[in-house]
Amino acid sequence: AQVSNQIAAGEVIERPASVVKELVENSLDAQATQIRVQVRDGGLSLISVSDNGDGIASEDVPLAFARHATSKIATGADLFKIGTLGFRGEALASIGAVAKVTMTTSTANGLGETAVVNGGELLKQEKSSQPKGTTITVKDLFYNTPARLKYMKSVQTELAHIADIVDRIALGHPDVAFSLVNDTKTMVATVGNDDWQQTIAAIYGNSVARSLLPIKGHTLDYQVQGFVAKPEVTRASRNFISLLINGRYIKNYALNKALIAGYGTKLMVGRYPVAVVSVHMDPLLVDVNVHPTKQEVRLSKENELTTLLTDLVAKQLGEQRL
Ligand code: ADP
Ligand code: MG
Repeated sequence: AQVSNQIAAGEVIERPASVVKELVENSLDAQATQIRVQVRDGGLSLISVSDNGDGIASEDVPLAFARHATSKIATGADLFKIGTLGFRGEALASIGAVAKVTMTTSTANGLGETAVVNGGELLKQEKSSQPKGTTITVKDLFYNTPARLKYMKSVQTELAHIADIVDRIALGHPDVAFSLVNDTKTMVATVGNDDWQQTIAAIYGNSVARSLLPIKGHTLDYQVQGFVAKPEVTRASRNFISLLINGRYIKNYALNKALIAGYGTKLMVGRYPVAVVSVHMDPLLVDVNVHPTKQEVRLSKENELTTLLTDLVAKQLGEQRL
């Protein structure tokens, strides 16, 4: 089991930012409204994610670290209508296999459990007292997989990947207060008051936030809502386009391209917009089980969505010109 967990870890956990993504998604699945991420040395020496979510019951703590153990899927049919961010039951087992992990968790204020997992082994589980929610602390990532450790880039690069993932997840969840603290410095902080524009301002700054135009529309299958920046505010890379599908931050070239297409000739060559767009659809229409990191998705009716995105952006920019 230890070897297969290390192999799975190689797919799910590429770098410190993957740990942050998996832990934060678990916090969201647990209905947290406050999520605090703390890192040291680009996440290589320490990543700690604290939430005020549902917590894990004492008897479920060992299960949480077992591979393919998930509390989120009960039947095979559930796999086709995934409503949570996690479902593969791989993340904690993978992280536990390649790092030194401590978890404190509580389903009600004052009760709780502390568990320690090192290199895939549950070393300790004992009662402890803490507020409702879960804190998972990951130390010495890849300490027992030196080949992977060798591939890590500089602390600055790993930190940039972590900040990027926290930014994008926070952008998609304006109802949740996120913070990212590197050593003692706060890099990201959102209020979590469900004000989307304020959340975008907290992450991209006021000048971007002031230039935002709302887009909203739907087809039979897709509901789209979000903000696109005016063409005066552009960036030199596509990295400032964030797409969420049913609350999950995803990467999808065709959808990015569709948003960009809505700008038509208003964008100069080599310039890209800032955009945050959230799409909701019947989970039956989206396959998120394409890759272990769940960042790639397959859409059953992709053209319907790309057309909608291009139209909504074009319409908003056109109206703006009048
Ligand atoms: P998955 O998210 O695919 O179910 P994970 O390995 O990420 O698998 O997590 C395993 C299980 O541990 C989850 O199904 C959930 O029950 C529990 N869990 C993990 N993190 C948290 C958390 N922050 N709060 C509550 N439960 C959690
Ligand atoms: Mg998960």
